[in-house]
Amino acid sequence: MAAPNRLLVRGGQVYDHAGDVHKPATADILIENGDIVAVGSNLAVAGEHEAIDASGRLVVPGLINAHYHSHDTLCRGLFEELPLEMWLLYTLPMGQNRSREEVRARTLVGAVESLRCGITTVQDMLGLVPLDDENTDAVIAAYREAGIRVVFSPMVWDVPPIAMVRHKDSLPADVQEMLGTTARPVRDQLDYLEHQFARHPAGGTLHWAIAPFAPQRCTPKMLEGCAELAHKHDLAVYTHVYETIGQVLIARELFAHHDGSLIRYLDSVGLLGPRLNIVHSVWISRPEMDRMAAADAGIVLNHLSNMKLKSGIAPVCDLREAGVRLGLGCDNCSGSDVQSMFQAMKLFCLLAAVSEPEPGPGLAHEVLRHATIGNARTAGLDGRLGAIRPGYKADVILLDLNDVAYLPYNSAARQLVYTEAGRGVESVIVDGRVVMKERKLTTVDEDALRREVADLMHHFIADYDRVVEIRKQALPYMRDAHRRMWQGDVGMNRFIGRTR
Ligand SMILES: [Zn+2]
Repeated sequence: MAAPNRLLVRGGQVYDHAGDVHKPATADILIENGDIVAVGSNLAVAGEHEAIDASGRLVVPGLINAHYHSHDTLCRGLFEELPLEMWLLYTLPMGQNRSREEVRARTLVGAVESLRCGITTVQDMLGLVPLDDENTDAVIAAYREAGIRVVFSPMVWDVPPIAMVRHKDSLPADVQEMLGTTARPVRDQLDYLEHQFARHPAGGTLHWAIAPFAPQRCTPKMLEGCAELAHKHDLAVYTHVYETIGQVLIARELFAHHDGSLIRYLDSVGLLGPRLNIVHSVWISRPEMDRMAAADAGIVLNHLSNMKLKSGIAPVCDLREAGVRLGLGCDNCSGSDVQSMFQAMKLFCLLAAVSEPEPGPGLAHEVLRHATIGNARTAGLDGRLGAIRPGYKADVILLDLNDVAYLPYNSAARQLVYTEAGRGVESVIVDGRVVMKERKLTTVDEDALRREVADLMHHFIADYDRVVEIRKQALPYMRDAHRRMWQGDVGMNRFIGRTR
């Protein structure tokens, strides 16, 4: 059945970034063909339309997750106490060369979790292996089935994964191979992207972006190709930068001709500009922040995974002070291990609070902007996503004010950020379509999905056990390389990354 083209959300407290963020005014929202066409009190609607009673509900712009990878959702809960480089040993193989059924199921699992937590858009920086039509179709079909909006960017790279590891040369050849020592041709991957843009044109809930894996994982030729594609198709670019201290040390050495800076390297290939978003930036220096801000390039913070994978804490206060535009993400399902912008928003505020002893301005309403308007901006969708205003896409969530998180109800912004766990999310509208109504998904049969996943997990866990067995011998070498980096390289000069 086709979605009704008119929907009235009646009588909710509608969160307005520019209005009273503590006690939003009551208003109706009229949606037509996926767009918000009017917001106001007692809207009169003639003709046939669907209506949702939003009284006693907080109506908030759909949350956007600006950094996510759907390839490891089935690894949720498998790891802890692994630094990033050691975690890659497991999560990389478990995301590659999987069956079409598994690709579909893992995409749906992430989409369902996201919708249930009020996320209406995910930026899926997908490690798709192999990069082919069949895999791509499975992912896009799953997102369409769930009804969630996706900014889809299959990752490309032409320098082998081992380039992410500091002291890689100290690792035996077979351990290096476990992480990946094979390069991929540039042209094939760029052609693949253009081929998919033509096969699945952006529109409705599908958007594309370009994702070179990381500057140190790409030659200038690959990055220049990405810059060209982004310009030609008017797309945003996402890339991992300075997630770990090891990556900073690699940059200082290998990119000495760019003053040791990955930001300067990105600049040299034509990527530093308003389209660019660098992800993580745990170890970015202050001059680099200023350079990013001057170029209107953005940073997507992922405190959840950065802390869980022992990467560190991004310098929130300095980034705010430098005026870099900010977004937020939840990152991998096996590195965070949750798709919850509520947790991401809360951590942003808490880490800002403990980073600066002097009391500053309230952050709850600011982080709500990052998680909506700011994250829309990362994808070049500002002015279309992130607010409940006429002309915006109708991506809206309804939260139940009867939930104990709002007992008593003193501030919408603060309680959304500091108290809400996702439990209050009751209904979700994406592109004008009600995809979750009173806590029941209208798109995905969750019981059937549960059965599918249970079936797939027999094979998945058997494969995982094999991976663990084979990787056992690699762990002492990886641990040693990790220790050498922290105790030796960083040691006395731990803040090398910050002052450059
Ligand atoms: Zn990532």
